[in-house]
Amino acid sequence: MTQTIVALATAPGISGLAVVRISGDMAIQISDKLFNGKDKLAKYESHTIHYGKFFRNNGELLDTVTASIFKSPNSYTGEDTIEFGCHGGNIIANEIVKELLIAGASTPTPGEFTKRAFLNGKLDLTQVEAVADLIHSVSIPGSATAARQLEGDFKDKLKEFRKNLLHIAGLLELELDFSDEDIEFVSKSEILQKVIDAKKFCQNLIDSFTGANILRFGFQVGIVGYPNSGKSTLFNALAGKERAIVSEIAGTTRDYIEEFIYINNIPFKLVDTAGIRESQDVIEIQGIKLVESILDKSELILIINDINEGENNSIELINNLQSNYKNVYLVQNKIDLYQSKVEGLSISAKDNIGIDKLKDFLYQIANNSISRVNDALINERQKSLLEQIIVNLDNAIESINQDMENELIAIDLRSAIKIIGEITGESWNEEVLAAIFSDFCIGK
Ligand code: GDP
Repeated sequence: MTQTIVALATAPGISGLAVVRISGDMAIQISDKLFNGKDKLAKYESHTIHYGKFFRNNGELLDTVTASIFKSPNSYTGEDTIEFGCHGGNIIANEIVKELLIAGASTPTPGEFTKRAFLNGKLDLTQVEAVADLIHSVSIPGSATAARQLEGDFKDKLKEFRKNLLHIAGLLELELDFSDEDIEFVSKSEILQKVIDAKKFCQNLIDSFTGANILRFGFQVGIVGYPNSGKSTLFNALAGKERAIVSEIAGTTRDYIEEFIYINNIPFKLVDTAGIRESQDVIEIQGIKLVESILDKSELILIINDINEGENNSIELINNLQSNYKNVYLVQNKIDLYQSKVEGLSISAKDNIGIDKLKDFLYQIANNSISRVNDALINERQKSLLEQIIVNLDNAIESINQDMENELIAIDLRSAIKIIGEITGESWNEEVLAAIFSDFCIGK
């Protein structure tokens, strides 16, 4: 028998309602000790909601609540589950949890509800990972993809993929059984094509990783340039009214500011750096290191140049950055004070000239990566397993090209199939689960 677990399922704090969830073999019995409705919860059907009073173990009234019943196996965890809807705030819901603990439930580990859903076959690992992405989602397209993944879109694709590989391996092995008779069942070129297609499938998913991360964490734009080139002004012009989250992070020696903005629903993380200068000063060098660490994480770098100081005033900076980073772009600023025609990206951060064009430029580049994201928000774990599958498929391709024994080719395919099982969680170990659930909170 598993422990019955209880936790607050909603975020703590002042709110109209809160939900406390209890799940496990004893969920209904424990709840019945404290819930007092028309009848005992044990008597009711699954998927029904009941109004009643919730008492402390000492008989004192705590709140009026609703109790939703989900009986095994038709619940999130697959176990008997009661969800108490109570009043929100900092006291009531926590007290309900405490009283249920006294009445016999125990505190879950982070993500234990979802872990139980996985262990009881309600969700596969790609769906578990989608739950985490859905909760932490910072963008509409990101949450939409996570919702599809939770619905099983990625799981189904992998199922299909596995079936295809099994089919090819089967064909090869079948031929093996009849090898004495020297009959070729399927042409090698046909098998080769199927394996190449399988590899493409994996490669496409891997290629969507960058886009998935943009949807997860935002497309990071590092804004650099010499002092007074107009970085802060541009930063504010870009953030404009869409300003969402402002955080000032104290660096070792100087501050930098990052801000989240949305351009057509795509999240961007703008990071305003203090600028890069050559320096011998130890403190200054620390500052430069901080800037470098920001740029390392940026998808794109905008170098802001005060055009009135000369179109080529930042050329050294550009050369330096372009040799270390990809996606480095020059933006000529303060064109309101400049009379001649300007090539490339040009703005007046102060007068809001060219800002929409710049936004569109950023959007196009980010969207290029995001458009590769389809039914899955590929994460680091899945990406590395997909890469391992490709290694096996490459071995198979090489074996086919070298006209090796079917047996050898089939072995590579079988190894690839085994790794698909690791993505879906058909094969798992505690270490893998621990890593996945470390991102979850107690109530999920
Ligand atoms: P930072 O040191 O690179 O962050 O530069 P700031 O954003 O603080 O700007 C330095 C100065 O340039 C301020 O006085 C701004 O008002 C001015 N400035 C910034 N952008 C423009 C612009 O597009 N046109 C004009 N005329 N002045 C600007």
